[in-house]
Amino acid sequence: MKLYSTLDKKIVEIQPNKEGEISMYNCGPTVYYRMHLGNIRAYVNWDILHRALLYLGYQVKRVMNITDVGHMTSTDDFGDDFGTDKMDKQAEKEGIQPIDIANKYIDTVLDDFRALNIIAPNGKEIPNDLTHEKVSEFGWTRATEYINQMIEVVKRMEERGFTYETKQAIYFDVTKIPDYNIFTGQKLDEKKVGAREDVGVDPDKRNPADFVLWMKKVGKYENHLMNWPSPWGEGFPGWHIECSAMGTSILGERFDIHTGGVDHIPVHHSNERAQNIGAFGHPVVKYWIHNEWLVNKEDEKISKSKGADSLPEIVKLGYDPLDIRYLFLSVNYRTKISFSMEALDGAKNSRKALLNKVRELGQEKGKLLEKYVEAFKDELDNNLNMSGALALINEMLKSENSSEDKLATILDFDRVLGLNLNQAISEDSQEYKEGQNEELDSLLRQRIEAKSSKDYLKADALRKEIEELGFKVIDTSQGQIVSKN
Ligand code: AMP
Ligand code: ZN
Repeated sequence: MKLYSTLDKKIVEIQPNKEGEISMYNCGPTVYYRMHLGNIRAYVNWDILHRALLYLGYQVKRVMNITDVGHMTSTDDFGDDFGTDKMDKQAEKEGIQPIDIANKYIDTVLDDFRALNIIAPNGKEIPNDLTHEKVSEFGWTRATEYINQMIEVVKRMEERGFTYETKQAIYFDVTKIPDYNIFTGQKLDEKKVGAREDVGVDPDKRNPADFVLWMKKVGKYENHLMNWPSPWGEGFPGWHIECSAMGTSILGERFDIHTGGVDHIPVHHSNERAQNIGAFGHPVVKYWIHNEWLVNKEDEKISKSKGADSLPEIVKLGYDPLDIRYLFLSVNYRTKISFSMEALDGAKNSRKALLNKVRELGQEKGKLLEKYVEAFKDELDNNLNMSGALALINEMLKSENSSEDKLATILDFDRVLGLNLNQAISEDSQEYKEGQNEELDSLLRQRIEAKSSKDYLKADALRKEIEELGFKVIDTSQGQIVSKN
């Protein structure tokens, strides 16, 4: 498979360490708030990548971390509270312990992922009853469960001379890595984003870009809520060390793919790479892959501090979570998506149109159309060319092949799309038959009339009334199909 490697600055053929098997680490959520659409874009991207790898025949070994210990850095927020621990702050706000904050928001991550049909990092569907208690069985790693491993990695770096200790913290000395700035090409003293981290907090810090590996429970953090013993005193880990420790603990000292948003390139991933070299003598990760942003109309990154919408907020507006999924999967991970209600409406309509076309194929499955399967694989293989894949699907649906074969093929493609297309056909069995509900029958008749006199406003209003009765109406070339909602 070909993907865009940030370090190679080009699309490369992925050559895994182990033939036929891809090991992948996804930088995951920090759990002190309900994730927003920007975060969701990232996770839909990596879900598609995972599914595409499976479709192409790879074995996939994947983990996603959950940052459930507060960290002080933020690339979103350089406001007055910079340097405060977000998890602690939220815990104080909600009047509960930080770990309960983490558990609460892990459960919301699972709810959102489930609704978006995102598979767990271990490749399984997320069961309805999965909660924070068992996430580690599904390929998520919680930072709080890897504190010892983090300490071990810091000890390795310390032994190899990459760290220094101040009264407040253990730091990574970035000057020890000659190509520390390989991602950005910046000179060290130009590294403004990294320089914001902990600035002005510790007078003994040597270089602005040096970063915390272990923060001691002293000074500003005297009252920090989550702490662990360590060789450097009681305290808590820095953010970046989490990913180096968990990635290597689970995937081994060399793994193939590490993903994250483009915001992680200058700081988080530069630091992770530096730590890896410090602890293991090599960068550990073979390919760094980054997703572009979801932006607003002003072309600004959608973020929590700018009041980005969460999934439930979108659902409240009458959209299906899979409309969001469709919007995000239809665009390549390296292309910015400008979020707007118009864009979402476009995705909603496209998804509906696809569902209708699938419904029209009937329920009998034939055989796979190999020509299209191969072409679909080519699109995936080509740096996840999802717009190409969707165009191909349309071409296949329009082709002269039998409905049975088309159905078998589109359902096979849905292993990657994750749009629950098989439910679309089984919903037909929930199809409403005239004569069971008088009120509904009358609304349906009025809607047919409204549509034939091209009064679409009225038809839409009637659709709403029908939905309020608990039914869904879909327009197909054979007329309206009504099913239980
Ligand atoms: P965080 O919880 O802030 O560490 O973010 C989790 C993931 O969401 C990271 O991989 C970010 O890069 C990603 N992310 C945050 N905002 C956006 C956005 N507007 N567009 C795309 N990805 C984002
Ligand atoms: Zn990370």
